[in-house]
Amino acid sequence: MSLKTDDRKFDARTAAGIEDAFMRGAVGSAQDSLKTRRLTAATALGDWEQWRELGQQIRQHTLENLDYYLGQMADNVERRGGHVFFARTKEEASAYIRDVVQSKNARKVVKSKSMVTEEIEMNHVLMEAGCEVIESDLGEYILQEDDWDPPSHIVAPALHKNRKQIRDVFASKLSYAGDETPEHLARFARDILREKFLEAEIGITGCNFAVANLGAINLVTNEGNGDLTAALPKTHIAVMGMERIVPTLEEMEVLDNLLCRSAVGQKLTSYITVMGPREPGEVDGPEEFHLVIVDNGRSEILASEFHEALQCIRCGACLNVCPVYRHIGGHAYGSIYPGPIGAVITPLLGGYDDYKELPYASSLCGACTDVCPVKIPLHEQLVMHRQNIVSQGRTGVADRVQMKAASKLLSSPGMFRSTLRVAYSMTRLLSRHGRIVRGPGPIEGWIGIRDMPQPVKKQDGFRSWYENRERVERADAFDAPLKDIRKNGLSAKSDANATVLPKAEPGRDSSVEEAAAPIGKEGR
Ligand code: SF4
Repeated sequence: MSLKTDDRKFDARTAAGIEDAFMRGAVGSAQDSLKTRRLTAATALGDWEQWRELGQQIRQHTLENLDYYLGQMADNVERRGGHVFFARTKEEASAYIRDVVQSKNARKVVKSKSMVTEEIEMNHVLMEAGCEVIESDLGEYILQEDDWDPPSHIVAPALHKNRKQIRDVFASKLSYAGDETPEHLARFARDILREKFLEAEIGITGCNFAVANLGAINLVTNEGNGDLTAALPKTHIAVMGMERIVPTLEEMEVLDNLLCRSAVGQKLTSYITVMGPREPGEVDGPEEFHLVIVDNGRSEILASEFHEALQCIRCGACLNVCPVYRHIGGHAYGSIYPGPIGAVITPLLGGYDDYKELPYASSLCGACTDVCPVKIPLHEQLVMHRQNIVSQGRTGVADRVQMKAASKLLSSPGMFRSTLRVAYSMTRLLSRHGRIVRGPGPIEGWIGIRDMPQPVKKQDGFRSWYENRERVERADAFDAPLKDIRKNGLSAKSDANATVLPKAEPGRDSSVEEAAAPIGKEGR
């Protein structure tokens, strides 16, 4: 797997996502349940906003002093007998890992879930070198057995598969003969994976946070596979993006709290482990520890206006609230990093040539920004991408022509009014009750699910419509009851309400129509 997971064009990927009813249902219910659980877990922590503030400060402080903390981390790992490699590119990172594996004459590698190892195409490089690589996270294992189906969520990679599909994968690839019960499927995978842990010569993990003053890494998992991957094979290689570092255990504790609650709505996940090179006198754990610190474009991001994107702790909460992700699913992003954070960092890591559509895969509603536990202004970063894409002339010819035309139109009142007149005449036959109800070609589908007001006539332009609307609303809200009170005294107050609120008729939603009626008569 690499950063890119799909060679199809963005339109084809999103169309496939929208047509996949099962995937949309699965993503919708996962989003709903994760949102609720996150909210409960966050509320239990007390003042969640203060925790977010603290999380943001920790991430910003660390990034501002990244060279210091990375140096401290490297010194401490080496002091404890471990090896550290700084990789400028994904090629350097994968080549180092392959060299370590080959130096041990290893053929069997087990790994736990790690986005950065996907980014550097490590599995591919190791398999080309003749190694068997086994993913030990259950979701990742299912995807691997399904011919390396790409992940669709940062935290729940196999979110797009149901139990029947998983059963079919296990049956066809691993001769599974059981039913679709989740416990049976998990037990089956677990039995296979236990053997793989014991056979593996090399264990490769990611790193949720590197703790600089200890020279240790922190793993956060629910299945315990990360611990087995790190502890059982003789050599442990940990791979981390260079931004995933904290000064001490205290900051780690804050970020783990934010991560677990935001990712899966748990106070803490089942396994929170801090590990590193084996200390003298320790009798268990791997004999050799390597830490690969990957740059692969992060230095440029750090120096750019997108530096806040590096605060990300990969909790996936922004995916769980995104209305666009809900409808198109993770595969539509064509990247191992889907959702709002994927739409921000994928173009930074992979370039606009391949990913210029992603920043537009957002309604800019800001839900991602509101939910992010480390306060990354995601929707603002998406707008910055759009600005860059436009200023670099990367939009299509049709877009450029439309924008130029709109700019001319909106900057000339005369031309704007004439256009409105023409638009009004052209849409008369397509409209009913002030709404366009029919349209040609693809517009028909768009109108079918959205309100599109009919353009107003020139003489009823926006200002006069708005003034009339305000006058009518004021009259409805205040004038009529006041007149009644003046005429009949305060005792008439309760009756006055009857003049404001339209009378309800059984089976008819009269309030909307009647409230709009005065506007319809005077304002249009
Ligand atoms: S951007 Fe924020 S919400 Fe999204 S994955 Fe990263 S930390 Fe979580």
